[in-house]
Amino acid sequence: MEKILIVDDSLLHATQLKDILKDEYDITIARTAEEGICRASAENFSLILLDVVMPGMDGFSLLKLLQEELITQSIPVIMITSLSNAEDEQRGFILGAVDYITKPFNPLVVKARVNTHIKLYNYRKQVEYQSRTDQLTGIANRRQYDRVSLVKWKEAARLQVPFSVCMLDIDRFKIYNDTFGHPAGDKVITSVARTVSSYLCRNTDFFARYGGEEFVACLLGDSGDKAFAYLKTIRQAVEAMHIPHNPSVSQWVTVSIGGITVVPPLDGSYDVYLKMADTMLYEAKESGRNRVIWKDESGQQFKEQ
Ligand code: GH3
Ligand code: MG
Ligand code: MG
Repeated sequence: MEKILIVDDSLLHATQLKDILKDEYDITIARTAEEGICRASAENFSLILLDVVMPGMDGFSLLKLLQEELITQSIPVIMITSLSNAEDEQRGFILGAVDYITKPFNPLVVKARVNTHIKLYNYRKQVEYQSRTDQLTGIANRRQYDRVSLVKWKEAARLQVPFSVCMLDIDRFKIYNDTFGHPAGDKVITSVARTVSSYLCRNTDFFARYGGEEFVACLLGDSGDKAFAYLKTIRQAVEAMHIPHNPSVSQWVTVSIGGITVVPPLDGSYDVYLKMADTMLYEAKESGRNRVIWKDESGQQFKEQ
């Protein structure tokens, strides 16, 4: 059941709304704006019904707060007003409310407006999800990578902590497709994505499909030798899936990995380091594939033989 938060100091009005909606939705009532912001930040609501007039912090101030907080700003808010007052409605819309309901409540109107905005919210969430997700593998796509990698890079620069960027590419994949067919190739891409994802699961890790059979990962906080060791484990895990390759190429499907770890200079450009990671990947390919080649800040290289 979708969750709706009602913020209203009047228990009578809140209960009336709850009675109208409780068959279709899971309803939570908050009696003050302060309680409202706490609940809204801590739980997953699909809609907030917000009373304009409350003692202490009023509905407009709470609406402003909700709009400023990253975790609550996308939740649609419907204002509740008894003051069928054009100025109030206008103010609510300017602050970002999606709609308003007037007291006394008309159950049909309340239901219709709530249903519409919940539908729109779910539709928007779905579109947002699709726009950042790779359809084949379900991991982040290139567009999401472009956005997130820069945010993480800037965060690492601000905190002056090591940042690793890493390119990962399936070996001899054209031959795999030619041998086993494109649909089988798609399954391999998905399996590799799943295995690598299972190792990059800290909330500071980021992993995306860069395009085709190529992936990119960003790691925060690890020194170069640690990142190198970890990516070696990941490379081995892909090999250990034991997906048969064309025997003229290799026994199993493998990946080559290139990466670099730096504490981002405050004026440093991310693209320069991505290019370096790509150069390390190229070296890994050139020196025989199925290996990791890494560079750290001092320029020291770590290579698998
Ligand atoms: P290398 O070891 O040098 O990386 O060789 P490679 O054959 O993997 O590299 P190349 O770039 O020559 O070929 C990549 C192949 O990946 C070609 C393309 O058919 C295949 N590929 C790219 N995207 C997809 C996809 O979405 N699905 C499938 N099945 N294959 C894909
Ligand atoms: Mg390849
Ligand atoms: Mg490639």
